Amino acid sequence: MRLSELFTKTSKTVPADETAKNAQLLIQAGFIHKEMAGVYAYLPLGLKVLENIKQVVREEMNAIGGQEVMMTTLQPRDIWEKTDRWDDKKVDNWFKTKLVNGTELGVGLTHEEPIVDALSAYVDSYKDLPIYVYQIQNKFRNELRAKSGLLRGREFLMKDMYSLARTQAEHEELYEKAASAYVRIYDRLGLGEFTYRTAADGGIFTERFSDEFQTLSDIGEDTVYVDEAKKLAINKEIYTDENLAKLGLKKEELVEKKGIEVGNIFPLETKYTDALDVYYTDEKGQKQSIIMGCYGVGISRLMGVIAEHFADDKGLVWPESVAPAKVYLARLGTEPEVVKAADELYFELTAEAIEVLYDDRDIRPGEKFADADLMGLPYRVVVSGKTLEQGTYEVKSRHSSEAQFVSQDQLFEILGTRVA
Ligand code: ATP
Ligand code: MG
Repeated sequence: MRLSELFTKTSKTVPADETAKNAQLLIQAGFIHKEMAGVYAYLPLGLKVLENIKQVVREEMNAIGGQEVMMTTLQPRDIWEKTDRWDDKKVDNWFKTKLVNGTELGVGLTHEEPIVDALSAYVDSYKDLPIYVYQIQNKFRNELRAKSGLLRGREFLMKDMYSLARTQAEHEELYEKAASAYVRIYDRLGLGEFTYRTAADGGIFTERFSDEFQTLSDIGEDTVYVDEAKKLAINKEIYTDENLAKLGLKKEELVEKKGIEVGNIFPLETKYTDALDVYYTDEKGQKQSIIMGCYGVGISRLMGVIAEHFADDKGLVWPESVAPAKVYLARLGTEPEVVKAADELYFELTAEAIEVLYDDRDIRPGEKFADADLMGLPYRVVVSGKTLEQGTYEVKSRHSSEAQFVSQDQLFEILGTRVA
């Protein structure tokens, strides 16, 4: 994409109404637009990042056999009454609305009920199970306080998956398989090193723990106790001697940290399936309860976490797996030979399937470099009168302060498309 054609612009002023670094930088770089507190629109470059995160999550869910669906945002009241979750006293962050005729509707804040209800049309024999069903969709929650930019929104993007199993053993297998997929997701997003599977409260209807995936961060809302060697943690909410013993964790091996919950997985037992009257018939023709699990990933929250975590004093620093493009190509000068060389490189890189943001604007080099740093693409490549004269390209990784002057072959090698 050519920057001269991109409708967004960067801004030097830090937005006055944002205190979180992720929101400040993403707004300044023109990646997101604030509609109101806790509600953000995604602009071309921000949408690319969001789509890249979705793609990583989607690939890992598909790899374990997840089947993707898209449920509806508008929700009928009756299915939520069956599980006793319609009442605002039971779930306090519902957004609700009404049809013209007065019928009340819910605005989806999670989807256990509608998923189970939809599956009831198809699941009835032991042969129909086990299954994983997932979606990637906006959720709406009337959070008391929307804060920290993308980290806690009122409208946000979530991946939610649900597993349906015949037996407890089968459920546990699905649960662990999904937990491993989560580890791969955070690894691919560059957060693996700082993200801990964390035992947390399983909810009122189960004796089991749930598992949160907590990315360590000073701005995290959760307090967690981390066993670095075991790569496990426990949430402060359930930090008792009894639970430590159950988890095989020792107080003296734990370090207190702050974490951001980037995903969580829950054993739901048979609460939703029983309440919605969905059972299966086993080999002997007997009616049996279905054991469920649910698995959330905060897609838009992850974008905020990644933006916040890797940023430096110059701006964003995207890991390659989610960057809106791999290369920021800065053309310095408007001399015909410089324009020609830069245009050619843009076409050649694009032809090699390398995504390029081409800064072909007629502005000062300093402004181009500042924008390149702010936008945080993995590589900056410069074409100028000087590089042309030397027969080289200037290339710099966003992580390093030093540029190298290299031949075209070396450039392509650095960018990972050609072997020397
Ligand atoms: P939290 O503990 O942060 O309030 P939750 O326990 O309610 O979240 P779930 O309902 O299980 O979370 O949602 C799954 C994932 O969606 C969470 O792990 C988190 O990453 C993300 N998420 C939850 N609420 C929000 C929000 N308001 N804004 C952005 N992401 C969110
Ligand atoms: Mg939580």
